[in-house]
Amino acid sequence: MLNNRNGTLFVEDVSLNEVAQEFATPVFVYSENALRQAFLAYQDAFHQMNTLVCYAVKANGNLNILRLFADLGSGFDIVSGGELARVLQAGGSADKVIFSGVGKTAAEIEFALKAGIKCFNVESMPELTRINDIAGSLKTVAPISFRINPNIDAKTHPYISTGLKNNKFGIPFEQAIDAYRTAQRLPNVQIVGVDCHIGSQLTEVQPLIDACERVVALVDELQKIGISLSHIDLGGGVGIQYKDETLIDLGVYANAVKQIIGERHLSLILEPGRSLVGNAGVLLTQVEYVKHGEEKNFVVVDAAMNDLARPALYDAYHDIVPVCVKDIAPITADVVGQICESGDFIGKNRSLAVEQGDLLCVKSVGAYGMSMSSNYNARPRAAEVLVSGSHKKLIRRRETFADLWQAEMV
Ligand SMILES: *Cc1c(COP(=O)(O)O)cnc(C)c1O
Repeated sequence: MLNNRNGTLFVEDVSLNEVAQEFATPVFVYSENALRQAFLAYQDAFHQMNTLVCYAVKANGNLNILRLFADLGSGFDIVSGGELARVLQAGGSADKVIFSGVGKTAAEIEFALKAGIKCFNVESMPELTRINDIAGSLKTVAPISFRINPNIDAKTHPYISTGLKNNKFGIPFEQAIDAYRTAQRLPNVQIVGVDCHIGSQLTEVQPLIDACERVVALVDELQKIGISLSHIDLGGGVGIQYKDETLIDLGVYANAVKQIIGERHLSLILEPGRSLVGNAGVLLTQVEYVKHGEEKNFVVVDAAMNDLARPALYDAYHDIVPVCVKDIAPITADVVGQICESGDFIGKNRSLAVEQGDLLCVKSVGAYGMSMSSNYNARPRAAEVLVSGSHKKLIRRRETFADLWQAEMV
């Protein structure tokens, strides 16, 4: 999606210089083609199974992106009522929505039941009770799946694990059978599946395969006691390229899952977030100052941790490159924002040939970029632009100062 033409960066056939001129900075720029290709890669790899790809909305919830995926046949993995509202607003269909998350409120459960979602991924027994009660009061039956914690040891992988015993997510593997037995006795829930999600930014396929094996073993155990499931949901977690990561081959993953499922009548749900949008977006920012400190140089830019929180939050790495190649000596500098926090940086110790006024392109920000942004330091949120071929479309206008206090009452 990013390409270099005569020393200038383009997204598809649109010059990033032009985007900055037309929409100012900071601005997120997405490639429609890259989004589409990422989705088709899943469909392609998993086409031999009955698979529903449910895009994890939290990675990037812009209505235009949701609409694009919905048009390609995507379902959606949501973690809040707000995300369900976004999906419906974008024209997504509720019957392809699955609802994850440890803290679903009564209002959210009622909203999801009335909308008619495909499945609740239940993460605790009190949540199960609440869903059953609310479904009862609405005279309906809630389709449910338990999120099982398969306790996959991911110690060799430098990602934020969610599949281990000591975190808040899911139901311990050992308690799964009891959970299903309990659910079977409730009148207003219908057991339809089993779910897991073991972590994010995975760079090796084996933990995903191990999780699939555990989940299918559970399906067999449940079958023996007369509980039959119609789907397994293996969550998201497939990593992307930020720097020099090895990448998971979706074909290898799909083949392994197909082997494990074998002849069982199980459909498959996947919940990818990052791997559908992460590499499809860049953040354009302008250099405000080049500051030569005593021990360090700083490139102060007009994007900050409120626009891109991942470096500050996870010490995450994002590649940063000038939009136009310049024939000047590079300096080594920290690329920092304007926010009054020492943790406000976009990149550290980068070698950059830049001067005041130059444009920088921060790569791989399509996932957990805009969706994690805030108004901290009273900074209006950035604009978002979607590029398709030589067309560019503003899909979220830059916020104004008035937007900052729009909800406040004086
Ligand atoms: C965050 C999340 C996802 C998406 O994870 P990625 O690593 O972005 O693919 C999927 N399912 C659940 C339950 C999540 O919390």
